[in-house]
Amino acid sequence: MKNMLINGAWVEAHTKAEREIINPFNQEVLAVAAEGDTTDAQLAIEAARAAFDQGEWPSVPAAERGRLLEITASFIERDIDELMKLETLDTGKTLIESEADMKDIAGVFRYYAGLADKHGGDIIDSPIPDSTSKVVQEPVGVCGQITPWNYPLLQAAWKLAPALAAGNTLVLKPSEITPLTTIKVFELMEEAGFPEGVINLVLGPGHTVGQELAASDDVDLISFTGGIETGRKIMQTASGNMKKIALELGGKNPNIVFADCDFDIALDQALNAVYFHAGQVCSAGARLIVEASLHDAFVAALEERVKAIRLGDGMEEATESGPMISAEHREKVRKLVDIGVEEGANLLIGGKYPEDPALADGFFFLPTIFTECRSDMTIVQEEVFGPVLTVETFQTEEEAAKIANDSIYGLAGAVWTEDIAKAERIAGKLRMGTVWINDFHPYIPQAPWGGYKQSGIGRELGKAGLEEYTEQKHIFQNTKPAPLHWFSAAKGR
Ligand code: NDP
Repeated sequence: MKNMLINGAWVEAHTKAEREIINPFNQEVLAVAAEGDTTDAQLAIEAARAAFDQGEWPSVPAAERGRLLEITASFIERDIDELMKLETLDTGKTLIESEADMKDIAGVFRYYAGLADKHGGDIIDSPIPDSTSKVVQEPVGVCGQITPWNYPLLQAAWKLAPALAAGNTLVLKPSEITPLTTIKVFELMEEAGFPEGVINLVLGPGHTVGQELAASDDVDLISFTGGIETGRKIMQTASGNMKKIALELGGKNPNIVFADCDFDIALDQALNAVYFHAGQVCSAGARLIVEASLHDAFVAALEERVKAIRLGDGMEEATESGPMISAEHREKVRKLVDIGVEEGANLLIGGKYPEDPALADGFFFLPTIFTECRSDMTIVQEEVFGPVLTVETFQTEEEAAKIANDSIYGLAGAVWTEDIAKAERIAGKLRMGTVWINDFHPYIPQAPWGGYKQSGIGRELGKAGLEEYTEQKHIFQNTKPAPLHWFSAAKGR
């Protein structure tokens, strides 16, 4: 199947290998994708290298680069129905989630379209007489970009748009199990007019194609979103040529609920925080940390709401939660649930595959709640990446922040209270890249996204997301050159 874009041509894998793309709701084959390998990755890297070193793209005016991104945004909006259906079929998420993703994706392309020509350099007031000093922003070069299966196109957009706005060339590798919307958006970018070799798409496994992007001396920057173990491997591999690294890894995100919150809203959003996309979200609010005096009422109400969650086909309007991405991933979640039970957490609800025969062909897992959890439990520390909520309690503000920070991760967290001063105090104490007050999950293209601690390195979105893809160059000019006479030869002896 010719669905890799290398040097402006849609090509199949050089071995002609292919992979079937499966609908996680019913295991039907949705499409066939090329299965590239190291050689295909090298060809794509060569194309991106030539487009950067010999092509015009890096010096195309930033306004023109922005214009192409703006056209891409409008094409995404034009084809939104097709894109959202494809994303739902490929990932299992509900149509309403896919629609929100696609609108956000168009917004990200549009944001960087607008920012492209507003990121000029700085004139420095030089302290040295008869000199000028300026700092210019330049593209980094060839970027390798690796994206995961949970937000296939959203994560790609966060990387593609700023890289192109800054004048880089790129090779993107999506997760091999969810490439469909990414293929479609490369078609749209080609239609928008991005030049040959500037945008390259290689499909195939992480351990070959992904590793090559991380290892190649011809790649100047690697940007990765995915699991922490893969992130470690990429970091090690990328050290070969000291390429720049941007890592967007996991999270184990606390959702802190004080007794003085708006109960109904906090309850509703606690569900959304953890069960959105079956919990397969790096910023999922998988750790509920609730004030002890509210615990019983809050957990009882949560349990009632969880019982009512309608699992099903993401394509059906009535469905509230789709399947997990794959049999392997669901099994990983099941094993972690078993560990939770062994370690003494109380399995309040869920914890297994559903028995409904209508769901038998899908990779479903019942929404799950563990109570009586402690911070040292595996289920509380490890990113489960499934519909599993752990509940801990606290007595004081200090204790709430301490429990929330007790993690190797530092991606995001939320606090629910009507006492805004208290919320701000907690927000200041959380060691996380994003803190929500009386909300959960929103991100905006204008603000940076990324993790403290082991949740990652660098930032995506916002101005910081563009800066990841730029090098700063200082240009100093002596406007009245004269000899220094420091060395004897220069003194004319
Ligand atoms: P991975 O980290 O394995 O995959 C993410 C991407 O990296 C995929 O494109 C994958 O390729 C690629 N990849 C895998 N191995 C390598 C490698 N050695 N070198 C370069 N690239 C590689 O995530 P999984 O899909 O396996 O999920 C595992 C865990 O990661 C999840 O359980 C979850 O905890 C976490 N995760 C976090 C995400 C986030 O948004 N922070 C997103 C997805 C997962 P391919 O899979 O095609 O072989």
